Amino acid sequence: MTTPLLEMHGVSKSFGASRALDNVSLALRGGEVHALIGENGAGKSTLMKILSGAYRPDQGRMEIGGVAYAPRGPRGARNLGVAMIYQELTLAPHLSVEANVMLGQERVVAGFIRRKEHRRLVAQALELLDHPDIRPETVAGNLSVGAQQLVEVARALVADARLIVFDEPTSSLTERDAERLFEIIERLRAKGLAIVYISHFLEEVRRVAQHYTVLRDGRSVATGPVAGTELATMIGQMVGRDLTELFPRVPHEPGEPILELTELSRRPIPKKADLVLRRGEILGIAGLVGAGRTELLRAIFSLDSVRSGSVCVRGISSRNATPRLRIRQGLGYLSEDRKGEGLALGRSIEDNMTYSALDQYSRWGWLDLGRRKSDAAGWMTKLRIKAISPSQVIGDLSGGNQQKVAIARLLHQDAEVLLLDEPTRGIDLGSKAEIYRLIGELAAQGKAIIMVSSYLPELFGICDRIAVMTRGVLSKARPVSDWTEHSVMEVATGG
Ligand code: ADP
Ligand code: MG
Repeated sequence: MTTPLLEMHGVSKSFGASRALDNVSLALRGGEVHALIGENGAGKSTLMKILSGAYRPDQGRMEIGGVAYAPRGPRGARNLGVAMIYQELTLAPHLSVEANVMLGQERVVAGFIRRKEHRRLVAQALELLDHPDIRPETVAGNLSVGAQQLVEVARALVADARLIVFDEPTSSLTERDAERLFEIIERLRAKGLAIVYISHFLEEVRRVAQHYTVLRDGRSVATGPVAGTELATMIGQMVGRDLTELFPRVPHEPGEPILELTELSRRPIPKKADLVLRRGEILGIAGLVGAGRTELLRAIFSLDSVRSGSVCVRGISSRNATPRLRIRQGLGYLSEDRKGEGLALGRSIEDNMTYSALDQYSRWGWLDLGRRKSDAAGWMTKLRIKAISPSQVIGDLSGGNQQKVAIARLLHQDAEVLLLDEPTRGIDLGSKAEIYRLIGELAAQGKAIIMVSSYLPELFGICDRIAVMTRGVLSKARPVSDWTEHSVMEVATGG
């Protein structure tokens, strides 16, 4: 084992009365990508701002290559080989790539800028990045966010960085740019640089990093090699609670088949999907974004027209129906786009819960508002929705409570088969745990659930069986115990 390139010892930092970092230590080696993970507010950015000279620590010390390191400001850190790529980009949009890369690190002799050397340095850095759109003369503002980020990396390379920190670099990148960034990080690593990679996307972390450290509430709570550490373990370390708490198991028993898909196809995807779903069963569908999982749910619910094959609900088979018929057959669909097509955020809880079943309350043109309110209040209690009253506007609720309202609507429609697309996306962990419990309770009542999710730990945490969608093709659904996170990813990526 080589000696660390960087060591941070006992670093603490407070902002007023709040302690952002408490006695944190970290060691990094050259040729290693070290992931720094943790929930929002855990202290990741603060620790890296100390490393890159933007903040001074209250306590603690740092060493680089065995020599005491106490940068005075970001420029001082850069001169000592530490570069930080921020989330928000810092390029001058009207200047060329070359000017941006050299900004503040111009090579000057006797007052003259050494153009040739600039060109050589920039060309060298860009060669490593190997991006078709980035040429020295390109105006930076015309580049995509991903390309601009790479220009920042070029800056770091020209500054002879030994250590580059990426703070949530993929949060505003397209999938393609993210993919390219991963390749470049690997190249930097192979050149012997040390990389700190901050992210809360654990799948990414597993892809790019060899080591990881978890921060929680300003403390370092775990560190170790990525290989051989399950995602679930990392999550447990991030959230600081037992996974049985995060994924409450509600006992349920799969019964008779309720939904059967036979070679269901829509153009261009999905392709010939076969599936049998039982009452009292939670079936997870994993896959990469764009694999066709949402399209499958939409085809089942007849939101899009189906090309061939059939959907059989309780023994009654049909191909192209309407969502209205599907609802009458007992299907319920929860869109992944909660705000766009799921909920009316400006309307009340009761409106949102009941608007697709309004005829229940109307008689001779008269709407029974009192009964509607008490029904809505009933669902609020059953689903433990935190709100003042059924007439509260749902835009004011937390994401988790909004999602419960959306699920309550399906239940209010008497759905027996729930098609849930990314039901926990964008909500905090506490609310996730409540949604998991709710899904478990619904299965225990004999409902059948299909859950599409990109978050593998939850599929493993709550599902009975998992199927994987790859470029429109749905794998056979197998019991969770037959899969590992690795084998799911292998199938998902077409391996
Ligand atoms: P992370 O990057 O892990 O999301 P941060 O390092 O940004 O976490 O924040 C850690 C804690 O420090 C949070 O409670 C945050 O509110 C606080 N904090 C960070 N920067 C400042 C600041 N400049 N002033 C006051 N509080 C801050
Ligand atoms: Mg941060």
